[in-house]
Amino acid sequence: MVEASKPRLLTGDRPTGALHLGHLVGSLDNRVALQHDHECFIIVADLHTLTTRPRKHEFGEVPGFVREMVLDQLAVGIDPSKVTFYLQSAVPAVYDLAVLLQMLVPKARLEQVKSLRSMARAAAMSDDAMTMGLLAYPVLQAADILMARATIVPVGLDNEEHIAIARECASVFNELYGDLFPLPDAMISRSPALPGVATGPAGSGAKMSKSLGNAVYLGDPPERVREKLATLTYDAGDRRLGDEAALLMFARAFVGDAEAADLRRELDAGSTSLAAAHALIDEAVNARLAPIRERRAVLAGDVGLVEETLVDGTIRAREVANHTLARARDAMGLESLWSGLVAATEARAKARRRPY
Ligand code: ATP
Ligand code: MG
Repeated sequence: MVEASKPRLLTGDRPTGALHLGHLVGSLDNRVALQHDHECFIIVADLHTLTTRPRKHEFGEVPGFVREMVLDQLAVGIDPSKVTFYLQSAVPAVYDLAVLLQMLVPKARLEQVKSLRSMARAAAMSDDAMTMGLLAYPVLQAADILMARATIVPVGLDNEEHIAIARECASVFNELYGDLFPLPDAMISRSPALPGVATGPAGSGAKMSKSLGNAVYLGDPPERVREKLATLTYDAGDRRLGDEAALLMFARAFVGDAEAADLRRELDAGSTSLAAAHALIDEAVNARLAPIRERRAVLAGDVGLVEETLVDGTIRAREVANHTLARARDAMGLESLWSGLVAATEARAKARRRPY
């Protein structure tokens, strides 16, 4: 059983595909490191998946992705006996909390969030067709974070503003109704926006994403990883995500800062080839992925492990969410409104000498 005195952390992913190298360096490494001295909640955000993939056949893919995603995390080294993995849609108290938090966030604030427009674009949705669900994505995320009363949220750069909105929800709530929610902080890794590889149309000009076809998956076999990494180029076209070429961002994430600086000098001087740079990165990436692949194969053979992990965690998350929701309703006066109505109805029944 987890100790309540540890600081709480919440993080997670949408089950829109298997996990990739961006997740590894953007969030999973932090999850593994922090699981020992934090009480960790890891959400499988299937409701958030509905914001861009609401069709029945799209949701039909979710169960498979849920399984892949939990297996990936166990293979990376997250210990299911330490961490609460849970399925977002199976915790209805979070929807209730999200509705209450929606009252606290100006619509114009959500319309400014760039990542939501990027998600709409990736889903071929025009700005005008953006649904309330997509616009309120960060509010639902705030409900996830605040239901756990989490203070630390390890995320990639695209999620930083969402955590700012969760803080705003918490602080406005506390101001209006009294201190209930601790203010959460985003924990941004040293590789918070790993670019994609050039296997899809978005290529290295966008961050690596499950939905953009530009990802190197943790479960990809070594040859596939090599092929994908060989698409990284060292030219200006790669630099749309920032000042640095995608190749160097990979070198920094997987080989090291000093080595990446050397590589840059050598490439600029022409003393090393692009093929040698690819080989260096491939070796480092495959050295990281080899033990993950091995553990994943063993874990995949443990039939029912993923399901049991999710069910146990979801039962725990429901307890926590119900408790937080009850406190929020109480603080807002919703609980006393309801209990007042019930008491008056009981008194009326008594006066009429009729049981209610
Ligand atoms: P989708 O394409 O469905 O949006 P995704 O690949 O962007 O999927 P998410 O589930 O949206 O993955 O993100 C899960 C977490 O991983 C978030 O905290 C996000 O910021 C982080 N993350 C995702 N992609 C990257 C990346 N390329 N680099 C660093 N962190 C990332
Ligand atoms: Mg995303």
